[in-house]
Amino acid sequence: MTVSADTTAHGSVDVLVVGGGPAGFATATELARRDRRVVLVDRGDTPDDVTTVFTPRAVAAARRVGVDLLEHFHPIERVRLTASVADPAHPGGAVGPSTSSGWPRVRVAPDDGCVGTRGAFVGHLRSLADELGVEVLDGHDAVEPIVERGFVRGASVRCPSGELAEVRAAITVVADGANSNFGRMLGTYREPDWPLAVAHAADYRSPLHLANEVEIVVGVTDRVGTPIAGYGWMYPTGNGTVGVGVMLLSTSPSFAVINPAHLLERFAEQHADRWQLGDEPTAPAAGGRIPLGMSVGPLAGPTYLIVGDAGGVANPLSGLGIDTALETGIIAGDVVGEALDQNSAAELQQYPKLVDDRYGSYYKIGRLADRLVGQPPVARRLHGALGARPTFAEGALRVALQHLRSGRGGMPELVYGAARAVASFGPDA
Ligand SMILES: Cc1cc2nc3c(=O)[nH]c(=O)nc-3n(C[C@H](O)[C@H](O)[C@H](O)COP(=O)(O)OP(=O)(O)OC[C@H]3O[C@@H](n4cnc5c(N)ncnc54)[C@H](O)[C@@H]3O)c2cc1C
Repeated sequence: MTVSADTTAHGSVDVLVVGGGPAGFATATELARRDRRVVLVDRGDTPDDVTTVFTPRAVAAARRVGVDLLEHFHPIERVRLTASVADPAHPGGAVGPSTSSGWPRVRVAPDDGCVGTRGAFVGHLRSLADELGVEVLDGHDAVEPIVERGFVRGASVRCPSGELAEVRAAITVVADGANSNFGRMLGTYREPDWPLAVAHAADYRSPLHLANEVEIVVGVTDRVGTPIAGYGWMYPTGNGTVGVGVMLLSTSPSFAVINPAHLLERFAEQHADRWQLGDEPTAPAAGGRIPLGMSVGPLAGPTYLIVGDAGGVANPLSGLGIDTALETGIIAGDVVGEALDQNSAAELQQYPKLVDDRYGSYYKIGRLADRLVGQPPVARRLHGALGARPTFAEGALRVALQHLRSGRGGMPELVYGAARAVASFGPDA
């Protein structure tokens, strides 16, 4: 096995981060701030031009990492919730009642969200990582963990030249995204019966690209008119296009037979006039699966942690995963920093507990709700109420985005509190 100049220059480092998405960079920058020697490898095969909404919670987490998204991306002040309703004249459903509100306010997050691309965001994270002294190895694929006497000691990495190199590290952080081959090599496992999301998206030219409101459409149906659990969206980018997408949950009755690309095409067609969308997307649609609701584990081993989508931490109600990728990355950075400071790998076992404290009971309710909205009669009633009742829609948005207020509870917090009490008696599923 050969060793590249890049890695020998550092000998064995404190931390190897596998994967340079939001989760990996959040961990790497947190540790670099603690003067730890960090190498981050990224193989660079994730589609980078996917138009992405950054909720106020994601903006807050990115600020904590050191990137102010509102300085770089198109600001979004409002969220419109629209219900698609059955209409014999429109096989995909017709546009029904619609309600618009500001983002749900929480003390710890700004009032606005924004729209940009994942790639541009990762570019800003990368510049920050460079400034802080993280060694970022682009085009490097972590092909397998180095395991010695049961302990992970870094990874074997394929360099852009095709050569293999070893990056040896005291602690390895796995941030390789939704498919997480590296995580699976370490024994992580996704609960196969727990909800999973699939998202598909494309950009279309539109004169409405400067709108400061995103639109979420519930009640999207399959070809035979059965509602899917999930939603569609329109995200104005501010630079000539509107991002259009669909997210469907595996609890949808026809999940196994729906082609997300076709669903997206029908959805875009249905909303083309309202959003003045161009005839064709500006680039081929991109999509992927999003493991949800803490469905992947274990999140820690003796010398490694799993963060972001690799750990299945995306929100089970919204399918959004940028905020949770950043948040778990920050938590992992703290925990790994403590473990290194105290020279005690046992500290790493704090991480699953901290993640569970933050998301555990909320996600349990979310998984239950995913199953409920997979029942067409429940979905129809819910979608009708969301479009028609502004207060209900605002409350639902607050719950779905996990923008709940602590202490000063309103109706959404009361309902959530009651659901949490009931769910605490149920099994984890
Ligand atoms: C179509 C679509 C639209 C979405 N829209 C939104 C949205 O609007 N808002 C939102 O909040 N969330 C959205 N999400 C979810 C969000 O993109 C993810 O939850 C988030 O990117 C997870 O971040 P991450 O860092 O965990 O993983 P990723 O962003 O997937 O990053 C993982 C990185 O690891 C690298 N990698 C993988 N394997 C290896 C390896 N072996 N060696 C080295 N590097 C490796 C990859 O190249 C990649 O750069 C969307 C998802 C999809 C599929």
